Amino acid sequence: RVVLGIETSCDETAVALVRDDRRVLAAPLVSQIAEHAPYGGVVPELAARAHVERLDLLIAQAMREAQLDFGDLAGVAASAGPGLIGGLIVGLLTGKAIAAVHGLPLIAVNHLEAHALTPRLTDGVAFPYLLLLVSGGHCQLLEVEGVGRYRRLGTTIDDAVGEAFDKVAKMLGLGYPGGPMVEKAAKGGDPARFTLPRPLLGQPGCNFSLSGLKTAMRTLILKLGAQALEPQTLADLCAGFQAAVGDVLVDRTRRAMALLERRHGRLPVLVVAGGVAANRAIGGRLAALAAEAGTSLAVPPPRLCTDNGVMVAWAGIERLALGLVDGLDAPARARWPLDAAAEPALGAGG
Ligand code: ATP
Ligand code: MG
Ligand code: FE
Repeated sequence: RVVLGIETSCDETAVALVRDDRRVLAAPLVSQIAEHAPYGGVVPELAARAHVERLDLLIAQAMREAQLDFGDLAGVAASAGPGLIGGLIVGLLTGKAIAAVHGLPLIAVNHLEAHALTPRLTDGVAFPYLLLLVSGGHCQLLEVEGVGRYRRLGTTIDDAVGEAFDKVAKMLGLGYPGGPMVEKAAKGGDPARFTLPRPLLGQPGCNFSLSGLKTAMRTLILKLGAQALEPQTLADLCAGFQAAVGDVLVDRTRRAMALLERRHGRLPVLVVAGGVAANRAIGGRLAALAAEAGTSLAVPPPRLCTDNGVMVAWAGIERLALGLVDGLDAPARARWPLDAAAEPALGAGG
């Protein structure tokens, strides 16, 4: 059984054909980096237009690569939210049209659930597990009990972690998208040269705060002068930022692990998902945390951490197997919290 996955929630137009034995048959993806780079961030109108221009071609390319006809499919899955509403509507309407014409079930996928379930595709992780979701729009710890069953343990009270990476990259003139640039620039840097805050470190609960760290970076960069930074200073700044983010993520995740251990009498498997999970320095810190606690860690390969069609197709496969399909009236939703993924649609648009 093969499911077509469509991802258009942000600035990646991505399509995938995935089989329920976890085999990826095709996964073409076009990133819109060139369109948005001059603006230093994603421009929603440009993103929606670029999705319109490319999506049909990508779907045709995937079908050709896999040598399949639409009639061979078991279902069509499209990201329905959260994300930029224009792009979501493009992807979801395209999915609905294919489903309607070929009489296929439609799965309106929560984009965050697609990130959250990816380690089940790549590593076969079993429920329940502890999920650290670190992406462009989110920074959360969730207990994943099953498909559509998420319990939030903590969330950011201000910025998302990918957003913090992107903003710091912008301050340093490293360009867009920022996360990979900061990681690259941090190579060979001394993380201890600059003193940076670790908001909420050691505090009760599992919430995150990143805006204080971002502001400290801004103050420091203004003082040093972003234009005149020596390569070593740039590396030290990026390494310091990355180390501070790592400390915060490790501290909060350790608390969530302890909480779940108390609740269930055993340590949970730790899963990291979302774009920031592609960061090797942060991945290394979390691997050390898991090893120290005596549990295992699953992180998808980088291309499946950032937005992609494979994760959407896989979420479709998981939902389809449980009979969780959606009507052709399923709405696109700009906001759609993961711990409400199983609730009935509230949203506007679509
Ligand atoms: P969301 O999934 O919350 O809706 P999104 O889809 O925009 O947001 P993702 O595609 O999951 O986010 O991740 C993109 C984010 O990940 C960007 O903020 C990017 O800077 C960050 N990112 C990607 N690679 C790295 C890296 N190597 N190091 C740090 N951050 C990274
Ligand atoms: Mg992106
Ligand atoms: Fe994402």
